[in-house]
Amino acid sequence: MAAKQELVIEIQDDNNNTADGTLYFTAYNPADRTTRAITALVVCWVIAAVTVFIPIAHFVLVPAFFIAGPIVAFSRFRQQDSKEKVEGTCPRHNGPITVPMENTDTLPKWTYCPECDGAIQFVEKTLQHKGAPEQPSH
Ligand SMILES: [Zn+2]
Repeated sequence: MAAKQELVIEIQDDNNNTADGTLYFTAYNPADRTTRAITALVVCWVIAAVTVFIPIAHFVLVPAFFIAGPIVAFSRFRQQDSKEKVEGTCPRHNGPITVPMENTDTLPKWTYCPECDGAIQFVEKTLQHKGAPEQPSH
């Protein structure tokens, strides 16, 4: 089953101030992805079949939906998760923010704070080892 999940992330601004945030997303397992892909294929091909009955437009619509079916199904099969939103604190104006996310968004992501219009970046916490200590070389 598709599971709603939360990921603790860091919100940074361009002056390296940071604050905590939470990314809300839905993760799809392989069975979900297959189901979503087949659903998309069936829907596209049903629309293609229905548009057969629309005069003239069917010359375009039927092949378009017939071809779109596998393309949409493939892109939905490849989609590992569906990002919803980021909630957290803006490091620039220190207020709570909620930023909607697109499905195709990936971290790190630069965006603008919806409250103060400042440039902010969402970063995964695990990527936060900028000054990672070097391994001793003996
Ligand atoms: Zn702000």
